[in-house]
Amino acid sequence: MKYIALLGSTGSIGTNVLKVIRKFPDQYAVSSMAAGRNVELLAQQVLEFAPQLVSVIDEEHADRLVAILGDSYSGEIVFGPEGNKEVAAHGPASLTISAIVGAAGLLPTLAAIDAGKDIGLANKETLVMAGHIVMEKIRLKGVAMLPVDSEHSAIFQALGSERKGDVHKILLTASGGPFHGRTKAELQQVTRSQALAHPNWTMGQKISIDSATLMNKGLEVIEAKWLFDVEPENIEVIVHPQSIVHSLVEYHDGSILGHLGVADMCIPIAYALSYPNRLPLKLDRLNLTQCASLQFVEPDYENFPALGLAFAALKTGGTAPAVLNAANEVAVAAFLNEEIKFLDIAEIVSHVLSSIPLGDDTILEDILTADRLARECATKRVLTLA
Ligand code: NDP
Repeated sequence: MKYIALLGSTGSIGTNVLKVIRKFPDQYAVSSMAAGRNVELLAQQVLEFAPQLVSVIDEEHADRLVAILGDSYSGEIVFGPEGNKEVAAHGPASLTISAIVGAAGLLPTLAAIDAGKDIGLANKETLVMAGHIVMEKIRLKGVAMLPVDSEHSAIFQALGSERKGDVHKILLTASGGPFHGRTKAELQQVTRSQALAHPNWTMGQKISIDSATLMNKGLEVIEAKWLFDVEPENIEVIVHPQSIVHSLVEYHDGSILGHLGVADMCIPIAYALSYPNRLPLKLDRLNLTQCASLQFVEPDYENFPALGLAFAALKTGGTAPAVLNAANEVAVAAFLNEEIKFLDIAEIVSHVLSSIPLGDDTILEDILTADRLARECATKRVLTLA
C-alpha cells in the first residue's frame, strides 16, 4: 500500500487525485489531507478516505469540521500553516501531492521534502517563488519531484532516459485560454465569468484566470526551467488551441517527442502516483482519426503581456519571479472580486516588478520578504485602479 499526503484535497486537483485513488483502493490510501475552508466537502472526504491527520485553514474551520464529523472521526484535526506542514510531512506517507493554490503551497512542500517524501507537484507557485531552494533540497534529500501539471508531465515523459545534453529545446504548449485571438480593445471589456470559462479544462478559479491572461503559461515556463534545468532561451511557448498535444521536447537531431492525450488531469495525476509504472485508467481515449486538425501558432505577446513579463522575470532571476507571482495573486484576487478590469492584471504585475527592489533567491526569508512587499505594493495599485 502506498500512503499519500494530500494538500488541497477539496480543490480541482485534489478531487481528481481522490478520484484516481478511489479506483485503486488496493494500491493507494490517503494518510493525511489538508484543505482550506470547504469543510462540508472535506468532511465527506474524511469519512470516505479515513486519513489519520486532517488540517484546515484556521481554528474556526477546524471547529466547524469537528462539529460536522462528531463522533464519526477519531483522527487528529489541526489547522493553519503549521497544520499544512504537519499534513505534508506526516509519517506514513511516501508521496506528498502538493495541490494547494498559490504561495501557501510553498512551505508545506518544503516541509514534505525535509521529511524525505517524494513530491507530486501541482502547485507551480512553489517553483516560481523558490525554484532554486526547492530543487537544491530535492537533490540533497534524494527524493523525487514528479510533475502533475499536464505540460510538465508531458515533458517529463518525453525526456524519458534521453541525455540532457541532447535536448535542443522544450516546446511548451498553451491552449490560449478563452480569449485566444482577441484584440486589446476586446479584452478591455471581458467579464469575470467569461474569463473563468476555459474552453478545454475545468480548473480552480485562480489558474483559470491565469490561463486567460497567459500568466499560467508564464508560470509554467519558470516551473519548466527549474524542473528540467533548461535556460529560458531553450523554452518556447506554442499556442495549440485543441489541448491534445500536452507539450514536446525537440532534440539536437531534429526529432520532436511529444505527449498526446485527452484533456483530463487524472492522466498526469495517475502518472505521478504510479511512476515509473502506469495505471490502467478507464477514461475516454483519444481517437486520432476524430481529431479534425491540430493547430500550432505563436503566442500573442502584445495583447497578452503577462507571458512576456514572466519570461523577463525568469531572465532577471533572484526574487523577480516571486515578486511576479505575488503581484499576480493579488491582481487575480482583485479581478475575481470585480475590483479591477482584466487588462489591469498584467499592468499591476508590471508596476510591482518595476517598483520593488529585487534581491537574491538563495535565502528563503528573502523570498518571503519579497513576496510580502510585492503584495503590499500590488494592493496599493489595486486601490488606485479600483
Ligand atoms: P483550487 O482553487 O480548485 O483548489 C485549491 C485547494 O487549495 C483547495 O483545496 C483549497 O481549499 C486549498 N487551499 C487554499 N488555500 C489554502 C490554505 N491556505 N491552506 C490549505 N489549503 C488551502 O485550485 P486547483 O486545484 O485548480 O489548483 C491547485 C494548484 O494546482 C495550483 O497551484 C494550480 O496552479 C495547480 N494546477 C492546477 C491544475 C488544474 O487542472 N486545476 C492543472 C495544473 C496545475 P478550500 O477549497 O477548501 O478552501
